[in-house]
Amino acid sequence: ATPMSVMVATGRGANAGVLIRDAEALERFAKVDVLIVDKTGTLTEGKPTLTDVEAVDLPEAEFLTLVAALERGSEHPLAEAIVSGAEERGADRSDSTEFEAVTGKGVRGRVGDRHVALGNAALMADLAVETGPLAARATELQTKGKTAMFVAVDGRIAGLVAVADRVKETTPAAIRALHEAGLRIIMATGDAGPTAEAVARQLDIDEVHSEVSPEDKHALVERLHAEGLSVAMAGDGVNDAPALAKADVGIAMGTGADVAVESAGITLVKGDLGGIVRARRLAQATMRNIR
Ligand code: ADP
Ligand code: MG
Repeated sequence: ATPMSVMVATGRGANAGVLIRDAEALERFAKVDVLIVDKTGTLTEGKPTLTDVEAVDLPEAEFLTLVAALERGSEHPLAEAIVSGAEERGADRSDSTEFEAVTGKGVRGRVGDRHVALGNAALMADLAVETGPLAARATELQTKGKTAMFVAVDGRIAGLVAVADRVKETTPAAIRALHEAGLRIIMATGDAGPTAEAVARQLDIDEVHSEVSPEDKHALVERLHAEGLSVAMAGDGVNDAPALAKADVGIAMGTGADVAVESAGITLVKGDLGGIVRARRLAQATMRNIR
């Protein structure tokens, strides 16, 4: 592309809240065949609300106090929803010690003298915690598009919490437009299968990869490259950074983690997927002008 046409395109993009790093990102984006999208925070608001609480042994208020104490240490969008939901339902204001975030899986730490862990089935498996009858309950909630998370206290299953995360208002139209532009759209999420599939069904996503780690997202990009495809990846989180860096074009939600933005060639300032559609049109118009 000529420096002039790139400047015009990046200027137009910036006005529309789409920051394009350089001419290469613009050129590569015009040729992309496949778009991989993260779910939480990218397709969805990433601001879920607490919808279900099931404690098996402890009284609900005590259970929620432990849950809230742990999640106060986390910056995950799910954590914020859990803390405010738990407070509304009467959780006390305590904090945790020895807090640890387990990327893509959940959180763990100590509340008073209790060891508390909160997260997905993979986290419970890592900790050798049997989820028992709650596993089926979690699946049921997930089928409804909710994210269900198990809670273990002192190494034993203590209950579950579920949150629901709405699809962003701008997402359905953006996905439709990207399909019309001929892109294949793949969802890659750390979230559980049924939740991922419920969202993918609503949005007519072509392919779903659920319960994937940051490494899996990166490997998915490599696999598509091996098929000779040109890949863009859109994500908001720390867990997306390796795949964003590996993709031909990384697209970060400006509302997401700094490391995601740093790994990206394109940043959507408002965190609105509609920006991808505008960026694609700009990229192709710029490339047409030069040929
Ligand atoms: P995504 O790839 O969809 O953005 P993440 O990798 O951020 O999802 O998280 C994957 C899963 O790990 C979540 O769906 C949740 O089950 C669990 N998880 C991660 N962080 C937390 C947390 N702070 N509290 C509870 N669960 C968590
Ligand atoms: Mg995310």
